[in-house]
Amino acid sequence: MPELPEVETIARQLRELVIGRRIAGFESFWHRVTEPVPAAHFATRLGGRQITGVGRRGKFVVLELDGDEAVIVSLRMTGKLLFRERGAPEDTFVRAVIGFTDGTALRFSDTRKFGRMAIVDRTDLAEDGERPRARAGVPLHRVLGIEPLTPRFTTGWLRDFLKLRSRSAIKPLLLDQRGIAGVGNIYAIEALWRARIHPLRTAGSLRPDEVARLREALRFVLRKGIRLGGASRRDYVDARGGQGRMQREFQMYDRAGEPCPRCGRAVMRTVVGGRGTFHCPRCQKAPVMLNARRRMVG
Ligand SMILES: [Zn+2]
Repeated sequence: MPELPEVETIARQLRELVIGRRIAGFESFWHRVTEPVPAAHFATRLGGRQITGVGRRGKFVVLELDGDEAVIVSLRMTGKLLFRERGAPEDTFVRAVIGFTDGTALRFSDTRKFGRMAIVDRTDLAEDGERPRARAGVPLHRVLGIEPLTPRFTTGWLRDFLKLRSRSAIKPLLLDQRGIAGVGNIYAIEALWRARIHPLRTAGSLRPDEVARLREALRFVLRKGIRLGGASRRDYVDARGGQGRMQREFQMYDRAGEPCPRCGRAVMRTVVGGRGTFHCPRCQKAPVMLNARRRMVG
């Protein structure tokens, strides 16, 4: 599943490829891509609009349109945005196509069909603007949290955030897009290992030096992911159909039983919050369990 570095890679490539192009038409081959908006309505709103910029917010690709709107694309598990010249060979599993007036096109290919597109107000994507309270029915793009690679993501910010959510286990908290936007399973695993923090530690139990390490580790692994063009696990390819190189650099992810690169202890696989998780049992000390604490008291 593409996370911040993969989506950032795609957005940077698309910036070179689609800015300035004018939309001639939109076609959908899977009705849920634009749900709940009918594809015909989507097409009407896009026709004649120009792409003025391409960005990223959390794990969304943002295609900025003239006016104050944007098309946001959620790639989810297997979505790909492929830029193609006129007459390019067909791609498989294409669920929607944005066609441009010069004959080029942006194809949205998605094997598993979880990906979505929406037309939104650009102001809804702002990091520091007025945001509705997160609750059922409010779309995710309106309640996204802080961007971890911006200067606002300071150790102080992270400390305050962890204090507010002090009883949450740290790893599921990192995956919550309403807190920190863009971090997914792989980069959370890598960052926690780098920061030497067990995935089940509660947010409130982190010492100041651990909070500082976690901030540094998140930024380090995300930046490294971007530098290497993202990680290609199974389906991810960039906007030109190329693969990333970050998957060769995983220290923990999918390395159960292999030696920890720091201490040599075998990497452990567990499940935390329903997600497969990897950690080093020596570098990332497990929190003191409640029953152990009870025994000590008793
Ligand atoms: Zn280790």
